[in-house]
Amino acid sequence: MIQLHDAEVTIKNIPVFPRTETIPLMKGLGRILAEEIVSPLFMPPFHKSAMDGYAIIGTDTSEEYVIKEVIQAGSIPGEKIEKGECAKIMTGAMLPEGADRVVKVEVTEEKAGIMKITAPDPNINICYKGEDIKPGDPVLAAGTRIRPQEIAAAASMGKVKIITYKQPTVGIIATGSELVMPGNPLGPGQIYNSNSFSLAAQVKATGAKVMHHGIVIDTEEAIQEAITSLEQSCDMILLSGGVSMGDYDFVPGVLKKLNVSIHFEKIAVKPGKPTVFGTKERTFYFGVPGNPVSTFVIFTLLIKPLIYRMMGHDYIPLIIKGVLHEPIIRKRANRSSFIPVIYENGKINPIAYHGSAHIHALTKANGLINIPRDVFEIPAETEVDVRSI
Ligand code: AMP
Ligand code: MG
Repeated sequence: MIQLHDAEVTIKNIPVFPRTETIPLMKGLGRILAEEIVSPLFMPPFHKSAMDGYAIIGTDTSEEYVIKEVIQAGSIPGEKIEKGECAKIMTGAMLPEGADRVVKVEVTEEKAGIMKITAPDPNINICYKGEDIKPGDPVLAAGTRIRPQEIAAAASMGKVKIITYKQPTVGIIATGSELVMPGNPLGPGQIYNSNSFSLAAQVKATGAKVMHHGIVIDTEEAIQEAITSLEQSCDMILLSGGVSMGDYDFVPGVLKKLNVSIHFEKIAVKPGKPTVFGTKERTFYFGVPGNPVSTFVIFTLLIKPLIYRMMGHDYIPLIIKGVLHEPIIRKRANRSSFIPVIYENGKINPIAYHGSAHIHALTKANGLINIPRDVFEIPAETEVDVRSI
């Protein structure tokens, strides 16, 4: 059995082989950028007005200003501004020559081609050429996960296509002779397969592709056949169930039989102890315990960072600090354990949680907190890290 930290390090050190592809910008949402985007231009590209108002010479304290022209955003100013003159200017329009200040329209009065300032406006109201970005400035780094703001930044640089990392394909197999696909009636002793859906949803949230194999019964042959059928087309294969000590837990044995080299097959973590991780050539294999919370937690802790790394992204989980409202006490402390909590306004409350089969508890939770190994109690009012889920 290895410690969680060692399992994390093992996975972090596994070589990955990201590949890239060029795609249209809008297809990039949720994907990982594989190129650095460097600005080819100044932003703004010219001195522009930050307000609707009148462009004047900043030091000009004339009583009245003759309006020389109206400058619309996108048009080119015609005349140089002299003392006693102004140009009516719109937000985003190019500043005329001579002017170095814009008086906003709210503090002016206009009559018969003459503008008067009616109240002080201390602001210059100009966005200067290149104040946001200059040619050669890095805009987006390779490895960035593309959110709407990255799409906007790339579009502002005139980009239509971007180079991203290819999405790995993740095959999903649910093992268990008791499992039934939702949509079918449940017989005695049967339960619905939720792990295929849980894993698929988690994989999709990373931006990777899912390939379903559905349910396989607990026989070595069925498991082997399922793995073999996915191996050619998948970069990673996830199996739920069949990894613990039961008479019908065949997954680790089948992986070994298929020449998968096993890096670990037990972790001192709760939930998720019998998790198995292996590799064969460029394919990764995880067997996670079938209890739905175990499947969910192990994906969150170990599988998700690897999928991101396969796409060239260094995933850093969102950790929030909060103060524990009630103490957390446990009887055994031989494993690092994760428990679902609800975090609100800096306070952390444990939720009703009956153990690793209780997937419904996770719908009430928005975070996981960790109780490290050898720690029996976290007293109330302790500040702890909450890992957002
Ligand atoms: P196992 O890891 O195969 O020993 O399964 C542990 C528990 O998780 C058992 O109660 C199973 O019925 C349950 N389980 C296994 N696979 C699934 C699944 N795909 N969806 C929901 N529950 C599952
Ligand atoms: Mg089972």
